[in-house]
Amino acid sequence: MAVLVTGGAGYIGSVTVELLVERGERVVVLDNLGRGHRAAVPAGVPFYCGDVGDRELVARLVRDHGVQACVHFAALAYVSESVEQPARYYVNNAAQGMILLETLLAAGVRRFVFSSTCAVYGEPETVPIPEEHPRRPANPYGWSKYFLEQALESCDRAYSLRFVALRYFNAAGATERCGEDHDPETHLIPNVLAAALGRLPSVPVFGDDYPTHDGTAVRDYIHVSDLADAHLRALAWLRQGGHSLFLNLGNGKGYSVLEVIRTARAVTGREIPMHWQPRRPGDPAHLVADARRARLLLGWQPQYPELASIIESAWRWRLAHPDGYPKDSAR
Ligand code: UDP
Repeated sequence: MAVLVTGGAGYIGSVTVELLVERGERVVVLDNLGRGHRAAVPAGVPFYCGDVGDRELVARLVRDHGVQACVHFAALAYVSESVEQPARYYVNNAAQGMILLETLLAAGVRRFVFSSTCAVYGEPETVPIPEEHPRRPANPYGWSKYFLEQALESCDRAYSLRFVALRYFNAAGATERCGEDHDPETHLIPNVLAAALGRLPSVPVFGDDYPTHDGTAVRDYIHVSDLADAHLRALAWLRQGGHSLFLNLGNGKGYSVLEVIRTARAVTGREIPMHWQPRRPGDPAHLVADARRARLLLGWQPQYPELASIIESAWRWRLAHPDGYPKDSAR
């Protein structure tokens, strides 16, 4: 009775693995270490280095570990990279994800928690964004996730697959052991903290002419531990025989890029220089979640809703790991 976590060496995946292990679950991690870190996977957790599209490997580890559910994180997740390299995103996220799904179904695994994204909505018509909001992804990353959401829905009808697709807003923060360490780093909070540490001379602020209160883009930042907790609740929902769900995960409160920088200055007590840059292609102006459904159905209640506490946890991790994860463990 194990849970297969794909992408379990990645940022949100590793925090979820940590929590699953803490709760006494048997976990198996599959990650190709393209972007993840071997050191992020807790000691003692069976680890397989490989692609989710490797049918033979997935079938074998399902058999060997008695896998009964899958939490699927493994994906490429940079909006701007997806605009430049769409084929890579469709192959990696949509095609490989589809092969994973097919392999799991053939092996009799019918519970699936999917790491989806608010990028499926594109530029929103209404904010906060409810799950029923039209899905019109504004970039190939969003489309690649939306394709898999569609496939899940079809497989629910055809094969009784039961899934929970979790549409994250902006994951941020850290636990004591696991934090955000991407290469290249494109996310706002890690870049802001790198500037606070003097590792980045200045934070680029992409766009000063968005239709928001200060002209910079607004996002809903959600603590990575709160995201991990939602995955465990989603698993529990499926184990209790719950029907398939699409759920937003966010705090329901938006912060502009300038507000993030100001909060980080207060938290770190550092200067954090910034400079203006043009808008990044594919970036919507304003993304804030209506996450009432997750609260209602899963009893999910974020424990770190304040932006300052989210940044504080990321800052603690950064200070303890100024170079991120050990690089010799990158593969
Ligand atoms: N952003 C920025 N400077 C950076 C990184 C990001 O101004 O160094 C902006 C980005 O354009 C977006 C917001 O901050 O409006 C959040 O970006 P991030 O990459 O963290 O997450 P995304 O919303 O793209 O998933």
